[in-house]
Amino acid sequence: MTVDIMKLTLFGEKLKSKSGISLLMDDLGHAMNVNRDILMLGGGNPALIPDLQKIFRRSMNELMAHGDSFERALGVYDSPQGNIAFIEALCSLMNKEYGWNIAPENVALTAGSQSAFFVLFNMFAGVAADGSQKKVLLPLAPEYIGYADIGIGGNIFRSFMPDVEMMPDRIFKYHVNFDRLKVTDDIGAICISRPTNPTGNVLTDQEVSRLIALAQQHDIPLILDNAYGTPFPNIIFTEAQPFWAKNVIVSMSLSKFGLPGTRTGIVIADKEVIQAVSEFNAVLSLAPNAMGAAVARSLVSSGEVLDISKNIIRPYYLEKCQRAVQLIHENFTGIDYYIHKPEGALFLWLWFKGLPISCELLYQRLKQRGVLVVPGHYFFPGMDQDWDHKDQCIRMTYSQDDTAVAKAIEIIADEVRSLTEIPQSQSK
Ligand code: PLP
Repeated sequence: MTVDIMKLTLFGEKLKSKSGISLLMDDLGHAMNVNRDILMLGGGNPALIPDLQKIFRRSMNELMAHGDSFERALGVYDSPQGNIAFIEALCSLMNKEYGWNIAPENVALTAGSQSAFFVLFNMFAGVAADGSQKKVLLPLAPEYIGYADIGIGGNIFRSFMPDVEMMPDRIFKYHVNFDRLKVTDDIGAICISRPTNPTGNVLTDQEVSRLIALAQQHDIPLILDNAYGTPFPNIIFTEAQPFWAKNVIVSMSLSKFGLPGTRTGIVIADKEVIQAVSEFNAVLSLAPNAMGAAVARSLVSSGEVLDISKNIIRPYYLEKCQRAVQLIHENFTGIDYYIHKPEGALFLWLWFKGLPISCELLYQRLKQRGVLVVPGHYFFPGMDQDWDHKDQCIRMTYSQDDTAVAKAIEIIADEVRSLTEIPQSQSK
């Protein structure tokens, strides 16, 4: 006799259907742990940077040598807000370096910033107390795939088509179109990732200031996703200021700093938001993970976290990025391709104008040839308009092994060229 116990709520049904982010994490987990021959340009795993690993090892040794610190990090629950010594060190650093004037009541840790987005988005979007349906406004898409399925009550996003600036050397850049952007009454929050996953776009300081002002005008928060941003991990290749204000919620993370396994996200916000995030931690997992805070605490209190980001992490990725761009230009002759201006994060966003198949099909074909990328259409949460562009882009990560990246670029070139040969005379 078979018994069907799966009589699910809408929430349960939602979890049963595979989301873009879980397919991506399946691919990533498989390539990183099971089939290591796959050329993994799909995920957002940071690189294992040797100079950085030495520092983490040193920190861990110091933790173990320092009284019972190691035993306490493993053996004691933190408060739902997260490790207070780490939080205090972070407040001192941000106040000293950037004059932020934040106190521990403005900071909470979470199980990675992904879980911070779960609580933040569902706090400000979904069914409001008056029964109306609220949404998160994404000022421009493409935006981070990991947001797309976070809403408990279905689609909670409204996103806007960007302006596309064409630049020399097959580079383009997205900009927020402020004329198109409408903050209607059903918008509960505005959110941007900066640098943006998947494009590596860095919204200018001026664009961010305008968004903060717009949010303020409507009494809603601007959520600034700083997973790759400044001041740490600082995978950012242009000039960009860190921002904080009373209506800004800054999300940071230790993941792209090199510690994704510790699952440590950091939310900096008004104290009422922090109380809600702490409440969420208590309900969902009692307390956030203590290990990331324990390993990173001395790096934060000494300020070394900033030097590491500036002198190790940023140059490491910048060099990898430039190498990958160069290889693309060398390999993609005969293809009508464009690269989003790489200004940060771990990705190149490639646009194949006139691609005769969908990017999903291109992803499948590349996967069959042992190359994993992410098809671009997943990165347009909340955009209903038809736009060919959504189906003409892929995201590739350049953070992994150089030989793998080079080989994968050759295969991508070969596959796309076989689909879209254009005359050599028009290829530059
Ligand atoms: N935000 C962005 C833009 C990301 O790319 C990621 C992960 O790739 C996250 C948030 C979540 O990262 P984590 O939960 O590891 O902090």
